[in-house]
Amino acid sequence: MEKIAIIEKSFDKDIAKVVSKEELEQIKIKYLGRKGEIARLSKTFGSLSISQKKDFGRKLNELKKHIEADVSTKERSLKGAVSKTEAIDITAPGSEFPEGHLHPVTQFLEKATSVFQTMGFEIYESPEVEKAFYNFDAINVPKDHPARDSWDTFYVDDNRTLDDDDKLLLRTHTSNAQVRAMADRKPPVRVIVPGKCFRNEATDASHETTFYQLEGFVIDEGISVSDLIGALTHFAKKMFGNDVKTRFRPHYYPFTEPSIDMDISCFFCKGKGCSFCKKSGWIEVMPCGMIHPNVLKNMNVDSDKYSGFAFGFGIDRLTMLYYGIEDMRLIHSGDLRFINQF
Ligand SMILES: [Zn+2]
Repeated sequence: MEKIAIIEKSFDKDIAKVVSKEELEQIKIKYLGRKGEIARLSKTFGSLSISQKKDFGRKLNELKKHIEADVSTKERSLKGAVSKTEAIDITAPGSEFPEGHLHPVTQFLEKATSVFQTMGFEIYESPEVEKAFYNFDAINVPKDHPARDSWDTFYVDDNRTLDDDDKLLLRTHTSNAQVRAMADRKPPVRVIVPGKCFRNEATDASHETTFYQLEGFVIDEGISVSDLIGALTHFAKKMFGNDVKTRFRPHYYPFTEPSIDMDISCFFCKGKGCSFCKKSGWIEVMPCGMIHPNVLKNMNVDSDKYSGFAFGFGIDRLTMLYYGIEDMRLIHSGDLRFINQF
């Protein structure tokens, strides 16, 4: 009997404190639930004598009715009150929106571009759909050069009626800008051309049909190979660190004379030799050279008075080297698991 009185007192205390729907729900479970106080009291019923049972049953029933009545009164008074979960806490910090970031190739391209800008280079943009003349002839690529083969170059449809020089194609390098940029410029010039290029190739770990290049050239009086070496060594140190060494080897390209390949010391093994640099300690990064007099002529530049150097490199390839990415196809995959690592 005292138990019933104790529960009643405890309930009266609890219900007085209730100010929300959630709290009321807890009270209902505590007293009226399947394992609640009323249910527990009912279980003691069996152990009572017949006379006790009558009295106990009545009191228990009264308590249950009392609790139910108070709960429904409270329910009515809370109706219209805003529940805690629905309420807006205007002091709570806002939730963050997911934010994207620049693609690793864009990050690398921007870094490279800014290094050249600090050296006084201007940025020039040239068309991605280009006439064969600017893509090949203007930069001294002969008519029979294998790069003109349709396996390497994407030609734009319905080209058959056009003359060879006017045929439209997707530029295979950013060198198409050289003669274009010089149409409305006079030496001295320092120009870089970052942009997208296209080649009709089968894709594999180191080849893609679409890739980025950065091309650049300098034309002025008295420009020599030592200017080329100075500028490109400065670039390499800014991009890959001050302890990077450069090496310049003779090579052949139709648009430069002499033609050069620039290597940098492997930034993984610091030139000691590792699997990345095929044990040589050097990584080939950039074809370059002194602009061929024929190209200067196509630029309407007097090759007796002026000289210049040109260079170009694949942004995707250098990005891969820089970050140690092994498969070029990942770069344009758009796979967030890859992109979010940068
Ligand atoms: Zn190495």
